[in-house]
Amino acid sequence: MIKLFDAHCHLQDSRILSKTPQLIKAAQDNGVVCFAVNGVSEKDWHLVKEMSENHPSVIPCFGLHPWFVAQRSPSWFKTLKEYFDATPSAAVGEIGVDKGSHGRQIDFSEQVQVLRQQLELAKELNKPASVHCVRAFGDLLELMKSIGPFPAGVILHSYLGSAEMVPEFSKLGAYFSFSGFLMSLKVNKAKKMLKMVSSDRILLETDAPDALPNSNIDSLFFIEGDASLPEHIRGNSTPSTSSSSTDASMLPKETLNHPANIRNVLDYVASLLEISKEELAEQSYQNAVRLFSYEGSKVLQM
Ligand SMILES: [Zn+2]
Repeated sequence: MIKLFDAHCHLQDSRILSKTPQLIKAAQDNGVVCFAVNGVSEKDWHLVKEMSENHPSVIPCFGLHPWFVAQRSPSWFKTLKEYFDATPSAAVGEIGVDKGSHGRQIDFSEQVQVLRQQLELAKELNKPASVHCVRAFGDLLELMKSIGPFPAGVILHSYLGSAEMVPEFSKLGAYFSFSGFLMSLKVNKAKKMLKMVSSDRILLETDAPDALPNSNIDSLFFIEGDASLPEHIRGNSTPSTSSSSTDASMLPKETLNHPANIRNVLDYVASLLEISKEELAEQSYQNAVRLFSYEGSKVLQM
């Protein structure tokens, strides 16, 4: 069976937390061996830590996401460092910069300052860092150049930057991780960018419970009880055998993404790269294993 590594997701998210054990089980039954679960603020780091203690397949990641920069406490950085001291298996994330519709409301210089501290910490701890970047790739590249290189790796998660920037980020140690969001790019643009990513730097992720792939509805897993699902599929949480031609774009945009849908991301990226899904699964899995093999990592015990 195909083995997959979800390089970035949020199984601690309050929208799905009560169902996490079933979601992990279903994803494992579909080949997902590991989940890098990213905390986003001081409020959820304990949930991520606890989840990793209960699930050998969960790799904990701690970070302050740019959307939560304004709410950080004066001691956030000290607390973050304590989490790393207490959790040798952890990586850094989710951190980043955002000039999108949501991120624009948050002071950008504070975002950069908080990101800088966390990138420096990742470098010092020799751990990979999962980075969110929306409409701020130039700023991110400048910052990474001023701190880097990053021999332990930086994951540019749900990467939607340009093809031209791929070599620049690669030189600094970046990996490029793709989710359902890739389906929002024009096919030609996505192809051009993907072909710039060297095969030893490609990763797959779900960003679950966000980033539902825009696939045929019958090929998707849904989260049981998701109130944003239309009634006729609400009872159907696993891919059905019928084949309608409806895709997920008809669903409300708050429809939750299931971690087993990494299969749909695999299919899509493999089709754009014109390689087999077995080949892409193997490459991306090996890349994630290498990246997450830092000292103390659970991956070393697998
Ligand atoms: Zn995320």
